[in-house]
Amino acid sequence: MLDGSEVWCQLWSEPDAGSDVASLETRAERDGDGWTLHGQKVWTTGAQHCRWGLAIARTDPDVPKHRGITCFVVDMLDPGVTVRPLRQMTGGAHFNEVFLDGARVPDEHVVGDVGGGWHVAMATLANERYSVGGLLTTGFSAEPVLALAGEWAGGRPARDPVLRQELARIYTAWRLLALTNARSLSALARGSVPGPEGSTIKLAWARLSTALADVAVRVLGPAAGIVGEDAPEPGHWTTALLYAPANHIAGGTDEIQKTIIGERVLGLPREPAVDRDVPFRELKAASARR
Ligand SMILES: Cc1cc2nc3c(=O)[nH]c(=O)nc-3n(C[C@H](O)[C@H](O)[C@H](O)COP(=O)(O)OP(=O)(O)OC[C@H]3O[C@@H](n4cnc5c(N)ncnc54)[C@H](O)[C@@H]3O)c2cc1C
Repeated sequence: MLDGSEVWCQLWSEPDAGSDVASLETRAERDGDGWTLHGQKVWTTGAQHCRWGLAIARTDPDVPKHRGITCFVVDMLDPGVTVRPLRQMTGGAHFNEVFLDGARVPDEHVVGDVGGGWHVAMATLANERYSVGGLLTTGFSAEPVLALAGEWAGGRPARDPVLRQELARIYTAWRLLALTNARSLSALARGSVPGPEGSTIKLAWARLSTALADVAVRVLGPAAGIVGEDAPEPGHWTTALLYAPANHIAGGTDEIQKTIIGERVLGLPREPAVDRDVPFRELKAASARR
C-alpha cells in the first residue's frame, strides 16, 4: 500500500449510513474459523481496481451502535463480493456500489479487536482528512490557474479588478493551506497523531478546489464548454468543476467537519445524540428497516 503497488478501498458508507456511519447495517456473522459478511456498501472509491478492502460491519446488535462494530480485511475477489461502478456527472466512474452476499473473511483478517472497529474507522478517517487535503503530496496548486489567466485571458487580469481580486484570493488560500499542510506533516513526522486539524485542512481544501475550478472556467469562458483532446487544457477545468461538489462530501461532509472543529477545536458543547447509549437493535430507524 505504501509504495502504491497495491490499492485498497474503504468499505464504510452504506445507503443508510454516511455521516452517521455508526448506524451501518452490514452484518458479520461467525462462521467456523472465520466470518461471513452480508450487506451493501456504497460510494466505495476505486473498488473496481482493488484486491483488498477494509470493511466495517456489525458484529453485535445488542450493544450501542458504536460498540458493536468490527473491522475486516475483505478479499475483493471473493465470490461473495459484487462491485458495480456508479457513473458520475464528470462521465467517469470513480466510485462503486459493493454488495456483500456471504463474503468469507478468515479470523486473521479482523483488524483490531472484535467490537473495536469504530476506533479503527475513526483512525482511518482522521488520516484520510489529512491526505485528501494534502497539497504537498498531490501537487495541487493555484499556479496553473494564475498561468491560465495570464495566457488565456490576453492580459485581462491587468484590466479586470474583479478577476484580479479572485486570483489573489485563490493564491492566498492556496499558500495558507500549503503552509498549514507543511506544519501538520512535520508534526505527524515527529510522532503526533492525526487530530481535528485534519478537518480544517479538508474543509479548506474542498472550498479551494471549488474556487480554483470556478475561476478557471470563468477565465476560459465559452471554451470551457468543450471537453476532449481539442479543448483548451483538454477539458481539465470543466471536469474539475463538475467533480468539485464531491470534494465537499468525500471523507465527511463540510457540515461534519464544522461539527468536529466546533466540538474539538472551539470547545463548543457536543452535538446531542440520544441514541448513543441505546442498543443498536432497539434503535427506531434500524428496527423499521428490519
Ligand atoms: C467522491 C466520493 C468518494 C467517496 N469515497 C468513499 C469511500 O471510498 N468509502 C466510503 O465508505 N465512503 C465514501 N464516500 C462516501 C462519503 O463518506 C459519504 O457520502 C459522506 O460521509 C456523506 O454521507 P451521505 O452521502 O450518506 O450523506 P448524509 O449523511 O445523508 O448527509 C446528507 C446531508 O445532511 C448533512 N448532515 C448529515 N448529518 C448531519 C449532522 N449531524 N449535522 C449537520 N449536517 C448533517 C450532510 O452534511 C449532508 O449535507 C465517498 C463520497 C464521495 C462524494
